[in-house]
Amino acid sequence: MENCLFCKIVAGTIPSTKVYEDDLCLAFRDIAPQAPTHILVIPKEHISGMSAVCAENAGVVAHCLVVAAQVAKAEGLENGYRIVSNCGDDAGQTVHHLHFHILGGRKLSLEMA
Ligand code: AMP
Repeated sequence: MENCLFCKIVAGTIPSTKVYEDDLCLAFRDIAPQAPTHILVIPKEHISGMSAVCAENAGVVAHCLVVAAQVAKAEGLENGYRIVSNCGDDAGQTVHHLHFHILGGRKLSLEMA
Protein backbone atom coordinates (compact mmCIF):
# COMPACT_ATOMS: atom_id res chain seq x y z
CA MET A 1 0.00 0.00 0.00
CA GLU A 2 1.54 3.24 -1.20
CA ASN A 3 0.67 5.47 1.71
CA CYS A 4 0.89 2.96 4.53
CA LEU A 5 3.53 3.78 7.18
CA PHE A 6 4.12 0.14 8.10
CA CYS A 7 4.37 -0.94 4.45
CA LYS A 8 7.13 1.69 4.15
CA ILE A 9 8.85 0.18 7.20
CA VAL A 10 8.58 -3.27 5.56
CA ALA A 11 10.07 -1.83 2.35
CA GLY A 12 12.86 -0.15 4.34
CA THR A 13 12.05 3.36 3.11
CA ILE A 14 11.27 4.37 6.72
CA PRO A 15 13.79 3.14 9.29
CA SER A 16 12.88 0.95 12.23
CA THR A 17 14.65 -0.84 15.03
CA LYS A 18 14.06 -4.42 13.94
CA VAL A 19 14.14 -7.22 16.44
CA TYR A 20 12.98 -10.03 14.14
CA GLU A 21 12.25 -10.54 10.45
CA ASP A 22 11.31 -13.42 8.20
CA ASP A 23 9.50 -13.84 4.87
CA LEU A 24 6.06 -13.21 6.38
CA CYS A 25 6.46 -10.77 9.23
CA LEU A 26 8.53 -8.13 10.91
CA ALA A 27 8.94 -7.13 14.57
CA PHE A 28 10.35 -3.72 15.53
CA ARG A 29 10.44 -1.41 18.55
CA ASP A 30 7.59 1.06 18.96
CA ILE A 31 8.75 4.64 18.44
CA ALA A 32 6.77 5.85 21.49
CA PRO A 33 7.07 2.99 24.00
CA GLN A 34 4.28 2.64 26.57
CA ALA A 35 6.21 0.07 28.61
CA PRO A 36 9.90 -0.83 29.09
CA THR A 37 9.46 -3.39 26.30
CA HIS A 38 7.12 -2.28 23.51
CA ILE A 39 7.47 -4.11 20.22
CA LEU A 40 5.15 -4.27 17.21
CA VAL A 41 4.73 -7.45 15.18
CA ILE A 42 3.28 -6.91 11.71
CA PRO A 43 2.58 -9.05 8.67
CA LYS A 44 4.61 -7.98 5.63
CA GLU A 45 1.50 -8.12 3.49
CA HIS A 46 -0.90 -5.24 3.95
CA ILE A 47 -3.85 -6.22 6.13
CA SER A 48 -5.69 -3.12 7.35
CA GLY A 49 -6.44 -4.45 10.84
CA MET A 50 -8.24 -7.15 12.82
CA SER A 51 -11.47 -6.41 10.95
CA ALA A 52 -9.77 -7.58 7.74
CA VAL A 53 -8.59 -10.90 9.22
CA CYS A 54 -10.23 -13.80 7.35
CA ALA A 55 -9.68 -17.42 6.38
CA GLU A 56 -7.42 -16.41 3.47
CA ASN A 57 -4.90 -14.54 5.66
CA ALA A 58 -5.32 -16.59 8.84
CA GLY A 59 -2.00 -18.38 8.27
CA VAL A 60 0.09 -15.22 8.25
CA VAL A 61 -1.88 -13.76 11.18
CA ALA A 62 -1.26 -16.91 13.23
CA HIS A 63 2.41 -16.75 12.26
CA CYS A 64 2.58 -13.19 13.65
CA LEU A 65 1.32 -14.50 16.99
CA VAL A 66 3.83 -17.36 17.01
CA VAL A 67 6.57 -14.79 16.36
CA ALA A 68 5.16 -12.51 19.09
CA ALA A 69 5.51 -15.34 21.61
CA GLN A 70 9.08 -16.04 20.43
CA VAL A 71 10.04 -12.36 20.58
CA ALA A 72 8.57 -12.00 24.08
CA LYS A 73 10.65 -14.97 25.20
CA ALA A 74 13.78 -13.59 23.55
CA GLU A 75 13.17 -10.22 25.27
CA GLY A 76 13.11 -11.97 28.64
CA LEU A 77 9.47 -11.26 29.44
CA GLU A 78 9.11 -14.42 31.53
CA ASN A 79 7.15 -12.48 34.16
CA GLY A 80 4.37 -11.81 31.67
CA TYR A 81 3.35 -9.48 28.88
CA ARG A 82 0.32 -8.26 26.99
CA ILE A 83 -0.56 -8.60 23.30
CA VAL A 84 -2.85 -5.84 22.00
CA SER A 85 -4.31 -5.14 18.58
CA ASN A 86 -6.36 -1.95 18.37
CA CYS A 87 -9.06 -2.16 15.72
CA GLY A 88 -10.82 0.92 14.41
CA ASP A 89 -11.42 4.43 15.70
CA ASP A 90 -13.09 3.48 18.98
CA ALA A 91 -10.05 1.40 19.92
CA GLY A 92 -7.66 4.18 18.91
CA GLN A 93 -6.07 2.45 15.93
CA THR A 94 -3.77 5.03 14.35
CA VAL A 95 -1.91 2.90 11.79
CA HIS A 96 -4.20 0.95 9.50
CA HIS A 97 -1.86 -1.99 8.93
CA LEU A 98 -2.45 -4.94 11.25
CA HIS A 99 -0.05 -4.93 14.19
CA PHE A 100 0.25 -6.69 17.50
CA HIS A 101 1.72 -4.66 20.35
CA ILE A 102 3.90 -6.65 22.76
CA LEU A 103 3.94 -4.76 26.06
CA GLY A 104 5.94 -5.85 29.07
CA GLY A 105 8.78 -5.21 31.45
CA ARG A 106 6.64 -3.79 34.24
CA LYS A 107 3.41 -4.61 36.06
CA LEU A 108 0.72 -3.58 33.59
CA SER A 109 -2.51 -1.91 34.64
CA LEU A 110 -5.62 -4.08 34.36
CA GLU A 111 -7.46 -1.07 32.94
CA MET A 112 -8.71 -2.06 29.45
CA ALA A 113 -10.42 1.18 28.41
P1 AMP B 1 -2.09 1.88 17.13
O1 AMP B 1 -2.34 3.21 17.79
O2 AMP B 1 -2.61 0.70 17.88
O3 AMP B 1 -2.52 1.91 15.67
O4 AMP B 1 -0.52 1.68 17.16
C1 AMP B 1 0.35 2.30 16.28
C2 AMP B 1 1.69 2.31 16.94
O5 AMP B 1 2.68 2.60 15.99
C3 AMP B 1 1.85 3.38 18.06
O6 AMP B 1 2.16 2.73 19.28
C4 AMP B 1 2.99 4.25 17.55
O7 AMP B 1 3.82 4.72 18.58
C5 AMP B 1 3.70 3.32 16.60
N1 AMP B 1 4.49 3.96 15.56
C6 AMP B 1 4.09 4.98 14.75
N2 AMP B 1 5.08 5.30 13.89
C7 AMP B 1 6.10 4.45 14.16
C8 AMP B 1 7.41 4.28 13.61
N3 AMP B 1 7.87 5.03 12.59
N4 AMP B 1 8.21 3.32 14.13
C9 AMP B 1 7.77 2.56 15.17
N5 AMP B 1 6.55 2.67 15.72
C10 AMP B 1 5.73 3.61 15.23
